[in-house]
Amino acid sequence: MTWGLVGQERAAAALERSLAAGRAAHAYLFVGPERVGKHTLALKLAQALNCEGDEPPCGACEPCRRIAAGIHADVQTVTVESDEEGLPADRQGAQKGIHVSQIRELERVTALKPFQGRNRVVIIDPADEMNASAQNAFLKTLEEPPPQVVFVLVAADESRLLPTIRSRCRRLELRLPSVADVETALLERGVDEERARLLARLSRGRVGWALEVAADPSLLERRRESLSRAGALASMSVAQRLELAERLAQDFRRRPEALLADLEAWRDWWRDVLLVQGGAEDGVANVDRLPELRRDAARLPRDEVAAFVRAVEEARRYLGENAQPRLVMETLLLDAPREAQPARR
Ligand SMILES: [Zn+2]
Repeated sequence: MTWGLVGQERAAAALERSLAAGRAAHAYLFVGPERVGKHTLALKLAQALNCEGDEPPCGACEPCRRIAAGIHADVQTVTVESDEEGLPADRQGAQKGIHVSQIRELERVTALKPFQGRNRVVIIDPADEMNASAQNAFLKTLEEPPPQVVFVLVAADESRLLPTIRSRCRRLELRLPSVADVETALLERGVDEERARLLARLSRGRVGWALEVAADPSLLERRRESLSRAGALASMSVAQRLELAERLAQDFRRRPEALLADLEAWRDWWRDVLLVQGGAEDGVANVDRLPELRRDAARLPRDEVAAFVRAVEEARRYLGENAQPRLVMETLLLDAPREAQPARR
């Protein structure tokens, strides 16, 4: 079997057993933290349900390859439409999320027989981004599931799904793989030892992230820049903070994902500072930056650092919810920990 998902052997084995026994569910709910491999596992399940090889999912047969390439006619993902252009007028400027019109479209498609394979697979990812009316519409579909259709709901926060939806899905929990699991996976893919060790620590178990960075060194370079900024923040004046906020907000309009990644790096950085302050250096993610972490730990008040870790998380959430980027960044940077001012003469 080639489920091949780092740290998710348990979930894969459970799926494999139910498929081997011919007991596939109409709907699955894959729950777990971000970038832990939920979507990949959903695609593997789609392969297993359509595979023509001896050991599904073989990964090598025509259907498996088409699914991996995203060109199988019977496997589709419903997700948040990020671009407002081309949306009907009633949805422009509306809240982000998966809308009821997408679910209606789904009802239309799933009423048809599969074109190419044995099973139609519909992945809803992130399912917890379905808005209330979308969830109600989807519930109706689940109550009378169309034949030969398997739904896979992928969610980081299952509490945002209607209990009546959850109870109709077979739930599988994906856990964060250990640092050692990630390191092994990186080594197996030819990443050199030193980098594998660092990326595994930084990943906090997010294999997808670690693989992405291993494949694209410019992402590490970008991280180096974000961390230098994080380190410099504490000694910046109010004017410098406002100027940086403005610049980052402009960046965000062009490349939102880059600022979100920056904020993720910041959060990890300040969390590490907290760990050092708490005497738990062993647990830090940024193992290559211990001297700077110690410097910040020694010079900044612990309660301010703790508050800032929370503020960074909030800022990420607000940006995801369409808040004014400039306002969010100004608020965040003005709240950043402040180095004790040298006494003035
Ligand atoms: Zn196959």
